[in-house]
Amino acid sequence: MIQLIENGEKTGKLTKEELAILLKSSDWDAELFQAADRVRQHYMGNAVHLRGLIEFSNICRQNCCYCGLRRDNTVIERYRLAPETILDFARKAKSYGYQTVVLQSGEDLYYTVDKLVSVIREIKKLDLAITLSIGEKSREEYAAYKKAGADRYLLRIETTDKELYRRLDPGMNWEHRARCLMDLKSLGYELGSGSLVGLPGQTIESLADDILFFKEIDADMIGIGPFIPNGDTPLKYEAGGTFNLSVKVMALVRLLLRNINIPATTAMETLHPQGRILALQRGANVVMPNVTEGDYRRLYALYPGKICINDTPAHCRGCITGKIVGIGRFVSTDYGFRPKSE
Ligand code: SAH
Ligand code: SF4
Repeated sequence: MIQLIENGEKTGKLTKEELAILLKSSDWDAELFQAADRVRQHYMGNAVHLRGLIEFSNICRQNCCYCGLRRDNTVIERYRLAPETILDFARKAKSYGYQTVVLQSGEDLYYTVDKLVSVIREIKKLDLAITLSIGEKSREEYAAYKKAGADRYLLRIETTDKELYRRLDPGMNWEHRARCLMDLKSLGYELGSGSLVGLPGQTIESLADDILFFKEIDADMIGIGPFIPNGDTPLKYEAGGTFNLSVKVMALVRLLLRNINIPATTAMETLHPQGRILALQRGANVVMPNVTEGDYRRLYALYPGKICINDTPAHCRGCITGKIVGIGRFVSTDYGFRPKSE
């Protein structure tokens, strides 16, 4: 096992079988986490990049079985932010010193290409990097946002198990989602993807496939999070993912993809009070503090138990900075793009 971890650390390569062995046993987790931390330190240094997250609409035309924003959820109170409010939050993000804003939403068709292009253009005037996370769109639409100034795009593949995807994402198509990733990459976006850990029926082997898939598409950012069952969805009685397994998948992603950006995800902190700090010490180098204000935070309910729903963005900025400095790291002052070469 130690040999496997050492090889992975040295070469950035592990086979599906080797990944599965490491994911199944918990005897060598400490060694795996230390190796991931060393790889992070070597390729990315001690900087932690903060990306200010703006959750601008919880309205979604899709029906993913795990997600609280799914169209059939009639319990949730829906909202969408006016373009001017999005801009206001972006200005505040800038004032907290963030270099990037992440615009995330359900697939809400209210935001036409023209509307979003003008929001992107305005935000670019603030000298911020922009990450979009707004789901599946046509290549033309992605191209328009890129031209307007968007820099990065987050679209998790969720799982590489196509049969599982078919069951959990009714009306969607795995190949189409994978094609979106290819479009985004070829349009010059920094490409973010990722998966959920602990979906009902998901196997360890398929998690190993996920990791190899990320390497194959040469993702620039990978976000891994536990699946947390939401009481307003069909998966409410499922067990959900664990903190430890999610962090292990993340650590293995670091071993194999070496110089990419990896967030310590909010869902990890939902399952463990020190979740993001532990993730930062096990391979992660990015945190995405929420800059959405007021009630919208609570209403953007992908899963229950979301952290910090009563906090202000200013509080989050101070809190996360304190934690980062507390583990001997520092908050980056640059945009935090993926380094060009290893
Ligand atoms: N609509 C866009 C972006 C918003 S959803 C999209 O789907 O790409 C952002 C992410 O939330 C999803 O990719 C999914 O991985 C995660 N998510 C949804 N429901 C979740 C749950 N119950 N537990 C944990 N993460 C969840
Ligand atoms: Fe919509 Fe994204 Fe939730 Fe699926 S995961 S229902 S696309 S918000």
